[in-house]
Amino acid sequence: MLQGDCDAMKGKSEVFLTDTHAHLASARFAGEVPGVLARSREAGVGRIVSISCDLDDVEANLGLAATHPGVFATAGIHPCYVHEPGPADWRERLRNLANRPEIVAIGEIGLDYYHPPEDGSETTAWRLLQESIFEEMLQLAENLRLPAVIHSRESTPAVLAVLARFPAVRAVLHCFTGTPAEAEQALEAGHFLSFTGVITYPKADDVRATAAVVPLDRIMIETDAPYLAPVPFRGKPCEPAMIRHTCQRLAEVHGVTTEEMTITTSHNAESFFGLSGPLLGAGAAWEGGCESGECVIV
Ligand SMILES: [Zn+2]
Ligand SMILES: [Zn+2]
Repeated sequence: MLQGDCDAMKGKSEVFLTDTHAHLASARFAGEVPGVLARSREAGVGRIVSISCDLDDVEANLGLAATHPGVFATAGIHPCYVHEPGPADWRERLRNLANRPEIVAIGEIGLDYYHPPEDGSETTAWRLLQESIFEEMLQLAENLRLPAVIHSRESTPAVLAVLARFPAVRAVLHCFTGTPAEAEQALEAGHFLSFTGVITYPKADDVRATAAVVPLDRIMIETDAPYLAPVPFRGKPCEPAMIRHTCQRLAEVHGVTTEEMTITTSHNAESFFGLSGPLLGAGAAWEGGCESGECVIV
């Protein structure tokens, strides 16, 4: 671990959590984002990647990233929104917005075979539409040299097949609930796997078994807020502040300390998304971020 002349060496930084997947632009957080961020900071979260599902989200997340240190944005069309990604010129607008420096990834994009077609169309046509938008988004990621945040629901083999056609794109499969064999396949292709509060659920032994096979240098954590609140908040609206419970459970699964898992997952997020700069609440109690991108904040 290189520490260079980062803040860690000056003893100014502290361990922080990174929520790699939250939907701060969700209507559920309307008018509440400052409070959500303050509670996140209070709970030790230093960075949040705020994920977009359609063009409106991209614009909202860019606004949040531009005004809140430690918040980063993504640009992409979720597979459940491929029938209404935005206005007629959404492609051009998305391409332009994705070029902005606050955009750290293309996502979330992918295939969702769980929800029925949102536009009432026939399943085959709906899946073809999802796949064609997914490919377009991966092409955009390749062109812009950005990583991709992937949504897969009952579709992991198909998602991996599409990803294989874009070997230059490094991806994270978010809220991963696939089998250990599917995890191995994603890992062999160089991708990362990210786990949500699902890993804390009593009946989620299969997800914990999968998480156990993921090496520590390929693992990330997320809340997927406002969804999937971890135990002991299950059933309540989820916020990034709850992520430490997911981190703690994942640490237990891997037999490491929560602090070790916190540092590891934040380092992985920093290197995967290229995150740098001040943390949540910068200018207040802490300073952090390592300009070299090589160090872990300790
Ligand atoms: Zn998703
Ligand atoms: Zn999501």
